[in-house]
Amino acid sequence: MRNESGDLLRLPIQLPGHKVWLRAWQVQVGRVALYLLDSNDPANPPAVRGITGELYGGGAELRLQQELVLGIGGWRLLRALRLEPEVCHLNEGHAAFAVLERARSFMEDTGHPFDVALAVTRAGNVFTTHTPVPAGFDRFSPTLIELFHRRYAEEHLGVSLRDLLALGRENPDDPNEPFNMAYLAVRGSGAVNGVSRLHGQVSRRIFQSLFPRWPAVEVPVAHVTNGVHTPSWESAAADALWTKTCGAERWRQTLTTIERDVESASDGELWTLRTTARKVLVDYARERIAQQVASMGLPSDEASAICVGLDPAVLTVGFARRFAAYKRPNLLLHDPARLLRILTNAERPVQLVIAGKAHPADGLGQELIRTWIQFIRRPEACGRVMFIADYDLLLAEHFVRGVDVWVNTPRRPWEASGTSGMKVLVNGGLNLSELDGWWAEAYEPEVGWALGDGKEHDDPAWDAAEAEALYALLEREVVPAFYTRDARGIPQAWIAKIRASMARLTAQFSTNRVVREYTDTYYVPAAASYRARSADKGALGTQLVGWRRDLAEHWPDARFGAVRAATQGTRHHISVEVYLGRLDPEAVRVELYAEAANGKEPERHAMARGRKLDGPGNGYEYEVSIPDVRATGDYTPRLLPHHAAAAVPLEAHEILWQR
Ligand SMILES: *Cc1c(COP(=O)(O)O)cnc(C)c1O
Repeated sequence: MRNESGDLLRLPIQLPGHKVWLRAWQVQVGRVALYLLDSNDPANPPAVRGITGELYGGGAELRLQQELVLGIGGWRLLRALRLEPEVCHLNEGHAAFAVLERARSFMEDTGHPFDVALAVTRAGNVFTTHTPVPAGFDRFSPTLIELFHRRYAEEHLGVSLRDLLALGRENPDDPNEPFNMAYLAVRGSGAVNGVSRLHGQVSRRIFQSLFPRWPAVEVPVAHVTNGVHTPSWESAAADALWTKTCGAERWRQTLTTIERDVESASDGELWTLRTTARKVLVDYARERIAQQVASMGLPSDEASAICVGLDPAVLTVGFARRFAAYKRPNLLLHDPARLLRILTNAERPVQLVIAGKAHPADGLGQELIRTWIQFIRRPEACGRVMFIADYDLLLAEHFVRGVDVWVNTPRRPWEASGTSGMKVLVNGGLNLSELDGWWAEAYEPEVGWALGDGKEHDDPAWDAAEAEALYALLEREVVPAFYTRDARGIPQAWIAKIRASMARLTAQFSTNRVVREYTDTYYVPAAASYRARSADKGALGTQLVGWRRDLAEHWPDARFGAVRAATQGTRHHISVEVYLGRLDPEAVRVELYAEAANGKEPERHAMARGRKLDGPGNGYEYEVSIPDVRATGDYTPRLLPHHAAAAVPLEAHEILWQR
């Protein structure tokens, strides 16, 4: 990127003791401009030039520097390019410093203090969390944050270091608590979401501590389930079949007719698609194995002794993944003898194609790969298992086009979404997966196979039980369905599953649906909210800061008085006395709440403010009438912050329960 006079664009950011110059590169990806930040500028000292050199390398300090480059440098780049996005989507907490720099820019433009600037700009930030475990969040020691951020806080944001640290802490008064980037992202955003329904639920638990006394279901984290870019994963043959049934523009449209249209593909067409795709994969895998063997430089007799098998007519089960322990890549190896029996069954054999990588620092992951290699070297396994090295996008493309069944065995709930299984859908591959991530919401018996009981288990014995269940599924359901053929040689039950899987899941787990959902549910409302708050030089922001300040100050005044409940006919009439003290009645609301029961959502009923009570304490009677479906004892009145323009409890998490 160059500036107006044609020189390289250079953005300064301040690190302790020196200035860092960042350069930027633009990549045009379709219609999207992608900007890449780069610290490898000759003007920087050597250590600084390496900041953007490696992902996930180095220690905490390098990580912090990278996140400063991304968050602060990233927002400065947008400013320098005069791009003024209304919505900033923080994909994971790594980029959360953008929240601060975006607020700082608003301060610079309007002269507002930091709290108002944050109240305005956060409305335009959307935070997507990706990890299902708190250990997945980046946390930095207070000392490190002090080293890198004290000047920025005091001189640029006009706040104390303590106030800045508080944005990343559960308890601002604990000087030892590390600074959590996900907490900063939550406090700097107008909406938060996880990446599958289950992950939304898990995330509400993870962030519960930021919303004390709120029911877990009301912790403000929703979800948008991930999807894959379908056209990138479909084979040419699948493309032809989809084009014939659903039209060439199918992935660009509303997706509403896909399910019906794809049903019109005939059994024969679907089966031809599968048999052809399997053969293409087998040929490719053999070629890759031959290259692998050649590159090992073995003596020719040893090389020719290596078994390069695979049969294009055999049921092909595949998986490819990072060999991380939570993915349990060795679950299939739990009982090697039983696995061998499944693979080498004379009438109904199965073959496995595997690919994977372990992180260079992950010794356990590497050990898991070694176990597979040892298994493959057993003479009995000859020709039935292939491990292909260097798992990358190209290899993934071949795998997801050709395999009949994609196996995924994460330990629930560690797979926040998972996407690899989605890539087989368009090609008529079927999923056999743990009920975790996307599969927990996609699975129905008609579309594939499920592992697990839909619950979390810490017990190591559970892995053994699941391995048994996996073998049993393969032996009793998957293998028979594949090899039971009709007079035309077509496996009816198998085809029925393919048809249901393609029709119901392909569009649902595509980026078309994902982008639409983010746009409708997040981006458009965020843009509107940001516009409203920034209008009139941020007047609404100032008002919101005042509202929050009053709430924080006067909340301790509030208390409940007597509750009265009476049932008349088919309705409960419930009233409660609420003393608000110095709280403005307009700044709060009273609700009647009942926990979820019988699989339904929790109930919330707004209570109307009625008569002013005599005596001190600024008391009012609040009342509501509801159907008498549940006992009055199920309901509890509660007091909440209220402002038409604010997100509660995301922006104000006070809550008072009557009992
Ligand atoms: C899809 C893909 C992944 C991610 O797979 P998950 O199931 O989401 O973990 C990783 N690496 C490659 C090469 C892929 O194609």
